[in-house]
Amino acid sequence: MIEKLSRLFVRTLRDDPVDAEVPSHRWLVRAGYIRRVAPGIYSWLPLGMKVLQKVEGIVREEMLAMGAQEVHFPALLPREPYETTNRWTDYGDNLFRLKDRRGNDMLLGPTHEEIFTLTVKDMYNSYKDLPLSLFQIQTKYRDEARPRAGVLRGREFVMKDSYSFDIDDAGLDASYQAHRDAYVRIFDRLGLNYVIVSAMAGAMGGSASEEFLAVAPNGEDTFVRSPGGYAANVEAVRVAPPEALSIDEAPEMTVVDTPAAGSISAVVDFLNAEHPQSEPWTADQMLKNIAYVLTRPDGTTEPLIVGLPGDRDVDAKRLEAVFEPSTVAPFNAEDFEKHPVLKVGFMGPVDAAGQAVLGEESASSIRYVVDPRIVTGSHWVTGANAVDQHLTGVTMGRDFTPDGVLDVADVRDGDPAPDGSGPMQLARGIEMGHIFQLGRRYADALGLKVLDNNGKLVTVTMGSYGVGVSRAVAAVAETTCDDKGLCWPLELAPYQVQILATGKDAAVFEEADRIAGELSQQGLDVLLDDRKASPGVKFADGEILGMPIIVVVGRGLADGVVEVRNRATGARSEVAVADAVSAVLELAGA
Ligand code: ATP
Ligand code: MG
Repeated sequence: MIEKLSRLFVRTLRDDPVDAEVPSHRWLVRAGYIRRVAPGIYSWLPLGMKVLQKVEGIVREEMLAMGAQEVHFPALLPREPYETTNRWTDYGDNLFRLKDRRGNDMLLGPTHEEIFTLTVKDMYNSYKDLPLSLFQIQTKYRDEARPRAGVLRGREFVMKDSYSFDIDDAGLDASYQAHRDAYVRIFDRLGLNYVIVSAMAGAMGGSASEEFLAVAPNGEDTFVRSPGGYAANVEAVRVAPPEALSIDEAPEMTVVDTPAAGSISAVVDFLNAEHPQSEPWTADQMLKNIAYVLTRPDGTTEPLIVGLPGDRDVDAKRLEAVFEPSTVAPFNAEDFEKHPVLKVGFMGPVDAAGQAVLGEESASSIRYVVDPRIVTGSHWVTGANAVDQHLTGVTMGRDFTPDGVLDVADVRDGDPAPDGSGPMQLARGIEMGHIFQLGRRYADALGLKVLDNNGKLVTVTMGSYGVGVSRAVAAVAETTCDDKGLCWPLELAPYQVQILATGKDAAVFEEADRIAGELSQQGLDVLLDDRKASPGVKFADGEILGMPIIVVVGRGLADGVVEVRNRATGARSEVAVADAVSAVLELAGA
């Protein structure tokens, strides 16, 4: 087909949108693919629609090919099922809530586990009905705290979500694997450079879980990879704890006056100056304790102290991921006032008399959890719970016993992979898809049971699988665009070819028309820039709009040639007019 730019509903913009943080956002808006209506809420214009529909098409084909059946469930939903699974509360501020005219609570679906579970429960009652996989490509609503980067993180967005229903764990494994295979085909066809990483299950609950991340420096997710094939979202990394040490070999606990040394580096410097030993004191011998307030979705709070080696920091995203749907914030001055036992800069699990200060069983009864590197027999320099005092030789398992382990320290380039497969490297990515085994959580909560082959009622086991369809448009744009504009791969471009008729000669427009007609007949989609605009404007727009092949019909026509450009590589060649169509077809691989 042929579309003429003179009638296409599009306006390219010369300036970047003020809120554009990443190139894909800038170019999708400037090229007239999407338009902002409110923060995180975008309209799709004709060019954007075409790309979105192509992504949808690929996702739909692959889901149907793996045997899932397409449905479309409402986005506007009643409260009750979400109340039953606790997600009305757990989703917190991320849930868009509203009331109907009768005052009933409603919500705009952020994800649809509840409704799929209930619908299957209504319709099916036997193992013979399973396995079943259902999917939809539908608009989701999440009142994201930080809508960002255009449609990359919207508050309204298009997701493909699917749900599998099986009678037993083996069935779930097979459904999960079938989805995983389909996702590999989908992201291959989208042309994304992606990695599959172990993930945290998050608010959905459940066990086995992997994410598909498009490798991109602007991505919000950090993941690690090792030479031996370990790959995980940094949130899901579980540090392999070192071997426990012998308590008998630990030094005595000793009080040290550390005047005004309330930070790790100040204590290290002070000890090296005033109490030197054969090996200098280092930050990784310190036990750093940080106080947090945990706020549950119902608004109740609880203090929590995290202990970790002094050379490490808490990774906020890893911490958040562990406690989701609760939120975690560092103690502020007011919190410290409420807990006078905690001395800023001098916190530690015991005092100089050896009395426990932190921990549920201690006088403070504040929960105390430590990094997995803090193993039995390891000894530390830490605060003495008195201003200007520290303790050395504080030994885990002898002088203190924490309430548990919390693995939230920052993960660094070169840290060993937990499975022994070598040093980990960090990189960033955009989460494109997430697959996970929900197990029986939703089926249990909502009573989805079927009769097994012995006539016994058993609870169905489920999986849940998402692809960010609108996000994929932005992710492809993000990983393909350059400093001049968008740069679509052939399979996703709104049109494979853009023809620029430059100049005023009627012959130029006639020839451009003719070439467009022939290409269209050959099955290509063609965008014809037939506007009465300067060549400079047309060249610039051609680059911004990002069709993979650009044909320039202009000055060269007098000599019988046109120019064929590859938008992605920038390669240009002059070809005889008569060869223009075949040159384009070759580039298009048609
Ligand atoms: P994120 O960590 O990026 O917020 P999520 O873990 O909340 O994602 P899921 O609930 O697993 O995501 O949703 C499935 C898919 O939907 C994600 O893999 C992502 O591609 C897409 N998605 C999630 N939130 C958004 C959003 N706000 N805007 C666009 N796409 C989104
Ligand atoms: Mg999210």
